[in-house]
Amino acid sequence: MLPVRSGEGAGRAMIFHNPRGGPELACDECGCRWFDRRTMSCYECGAPVPPEEVTRFNDEIARFHREKGIVVNEEKEDKEDKEE
Ligand SMILES: [Zn+2]
Repeated sequence: MLPVRSGEGAGRAMIFHNPRGGPELACDECGCRWFDRRTMSCYECGAPVPPEEVTRFNDEIARFHREKGIVVNEEKEDKEDKEE
């Protein structure tokens, strides 16, 4: 299935799946995949991710985790961020 775009100019990001099947957000402005999950905007160009995209992305992740049997600790501090 092809990624579904929000359309109507609202979509600044698109969801696709990495080789492991996990959903990822890609910036539609610059094509990078580095999103700041605290502000939900692109690291590279700062394009914001529309709330509906965030919701859809979270749904995709939840479904992926269920399919894989992955238990996510929602309270965990996410320190995957890198300075560069
Ligand atoms: Zn970007």
